[in-house]
Amino acid sequence: GGVKLLNNYVKRVGILGGTFDPLHLGHLYIAEATLEKLQLDKVIFIPTGISPHKVQRTPALHRYVMAHIATCENTKFQVSPIEINREGASFTIDTIRLLKDEYPKETTFYFITGGDAFIELDTWRNYMELLKLVTFVVVNRSEIKRDHLLKRIKDFKNSFDAKVILINLPTLEVSSTDIRQRVKDGQTIRYLVTEGVEAYIKKYRLYKD
Ligand code: ATP
Ligand code: MG
Repeated sequence: GGVKLLNNYVKRVGILGGTFDPLHLGHLYIAEATLEKLQLDKVIFIPTGISPHKVQRTPALHRYVMAHIATCENTKFQVSPIEINREGASFTIDTIRLLKDEYPKETTFYFITGGDAFIELDTWRNYMELLKLVTFVVVNRSEIKRDHLLKRIKDFKNSFDAKVILINLPTLEVSSTDIRQRVKDGQTIRYLVTEGVEAYIKKYRLYKD
């Protein structure tokens, strides 16, 4: 239908998957900076339904709505319900296979990850296949040692012929874990999330108990 037609004009697609509990300025910044550096046509934010790696706290619908609120002013940002609509645990490999079906063959997918997520890539289902289907874009996070990350990237390139791009950005130390803790403790989260997301968290009393 209409979506498929629109997708024909799109050749370079960034994907940012995450729990987004909540989506914060760190997420927005790495998406925007990657979009600019790699001249992407758009970035699709994909909230996980049920994460295979995490205990779930906040209902998927809240996380999905907050992702929309956070990204609504950027015409090149989209949010996809592809994982929250799927039954069972969300595996990135399934999502990528579905997206590849939906887009023209010449589309390149850039899967954006923080260094912490990339370091754990070998725990993801079918990660070797995943490395063949997408180009990974890695943005470092303060808790991951740069040498460790570089070595891991080199290993993946050597063993699996993986396409990995490390982009150097100022590391923003914001995390969803910290934001949830701040809300719980009654501390401000202003300027760590967008105004809309801050209001939404208040309105629905998220992260209070
Ligand atoms: P949590 O603390 O609940 O794990 P988070 O802040 O790590 O939340 P996620 O939704 O887990 O957010 O992250 C989604 C993706 O965004 C992951 O690849 C993660 O590494 C990356 N990411 C999140 N915050 C940052 C940041 N400040 N800098 C770089 N990458 C980030
Ligand atoms: Mg995380």
